Amino acid sequence: MLPWLKKQVETNPKKVGLYTNSQFWTIQEIANEVDKWAKKVMVFLPEKEKRVAILSQNSSELYFLILALWTLNKEIVFLNTHLVADELSFQLSDSEVNTVFVSDSLLDKSLRHCQVISFSEIKNQDQIQSIPTTKFCLDNTASIMYTSGTTGKPKGVIQTFRNHQASSLSTQKNMQITSDDVWACAVPLFHISGLSILIRQLVLGCSIYLFEKFDARQLTNQLQMGNVTVASVVNVMLKQLLANYPRQGYSDQFKCLLVGGGPVSKEMLQECFTKSIPVIQSFGMTETCSQVIALSYQDALNKIGSSGVPLEGIALMIRQGEKDCQPLEVGEILLSGENISTRYLNQPVKSNWTKDGYFKTGDLGYLDSDGYLYVVSRLSELIISGGENIYPAEIEHCIEKIPGVVEVAVVGEEDEYWGEVPVAYLVTENKIDSSFLDQVCQQSLAKYKCPKKYYVIDALPRTASGKVAKKLLLNK
Ligand code: ATP
Ligand code: MG
Repeated sequence: MLPWLKKQVETNPKKVGLYTNSQFWTIQEIANEVDKWAKKVMVFLPEKEKRVAILSQNSSELYFLILALWTLNKEIVFLNTHLVADELSFQLSDSEVNTVFVSDSLLDKSLRHCQVISFSEIKNQDQIQSIPTTKFCLDNTASIMYTSGTTGKPKGVIQTFRNHQASSLSTQKNMQITSDDVWACAVPLFHISGLSILIRQLVLGCSIYLFEKFDARQLTNQLQMGNVTVASVVNVMLKQLLANYPRQGYSDQFKCLLVGGGPVSKEMLQECFTKSIPVIQSFGMTETCSQVIALSYQDALNKIGSSGVPLEGIALMIRQGEKDCQPLEVGEILLSGENISTRYLNQPVKSNWTKDGYFKTGDLGYLDSDGYLYVVSRLSELIISGGENIYPAEIEHCIEKIPGVVEVAVVGEEDEYWGEVPVAYLVTENKIDSSFLDQVCQQSLAKYKCPKKYYVIDALPRTASGKVAKKLLLNK
């Protein structure tokens, strides 16, 4: 049995570990299910097949399958359910996977050159008598998760059990998680935001409430009834939770929301304060196996725009080339600690890790004089115009406040004289004159930062993770 699960069975077998909207399982029942799944799924896998992939939305079946595969010592490649055929092909061939387990509702996805096994096939399979005892090692690969592909081709991040365990332990300290907590997982398990909740449940002994997908009303109900105490959300989800906030508020059991992916706006933070919703903002990447920098609720209004301070065990440096930056000086964010993956699949270590062992995030940021991190841009999205650095986010924040602007992305366009100039791609509700946009920008931005062109388009291109794929705008 997986040591994390074994420990939970020994200490708290009757405690409910997993909830879904229709069912719940005690730790002992989880262990029994996992054993059953392992004895079925093994039939489909030769022992020498070390690595398999899963394509599934959240479900209890997915939960049991993950634990069963880890029990059998298999490495799992997590596929994003929004990927299209070519993207799936790339990830499957890059990871050299032969077998993909697919939830029944996704069987129409095209998966070339692979053995496809549906969840029903596993369930209908007769169990074998016993499974071989495997040696669990913390440094074994647990999961391979591809980055969102925002800046280039997705990279296969190798995440070990040690990375995941360290991440859980630093989260426990940061958020004072106890075995009484029930963590709502309405984010996908195929993404690190979701998988890290499953791992916390196993490592920290809290419970997981697994939602098939995010539904603001459903999650609000559970927060109101006290069935969940913590939830992981991204900005858009937080916005919907605020819109659905019940008059009676959430239950007294509710502890906080962990918000990832980007800073929460001042307006939303203020609304959270008014509604007494503690939010912890965080910075994390697929490579860091979830949050590594976090901003407490107490600090939120004093440090607007900051991602916070490193969690215990995480070292953070800001560097420009070989030089360490001073407070307020922008450079690349470098990180080290047990939470952080040490290699990508099929990529040289040299290009992404420094000689002294720091992971190069590819993000630019600075520390203030109190040591709080501010992320300003992706290194690859920085615009250098006539020798001046321009951070697209600053311009985007200015434009997105204009009434009628639905979304905006600013990128650098090649320019013979300046090298690059900022241009804005906008989605608008109604026609907005570019002279008006320009006028608004000029009021709050230096002239060289004001977009030289405004392109109105139907929708911004997005990656399978829903992030704006700026690289596609540059190819237009
Ligand atoms: P790729 O590496 O393929 O380009 P990606 O970096 O978008 O894709 P993820 O691992 O999903 O893939 O996202 C991590 C990135 O998300 C970080 O490097 C950072 O740019 C951004 N990010 C995460 N949290 C924050 C935050 N709190 N503030 C600003 N940016 C954040
Ligand atoms: Mg990245």
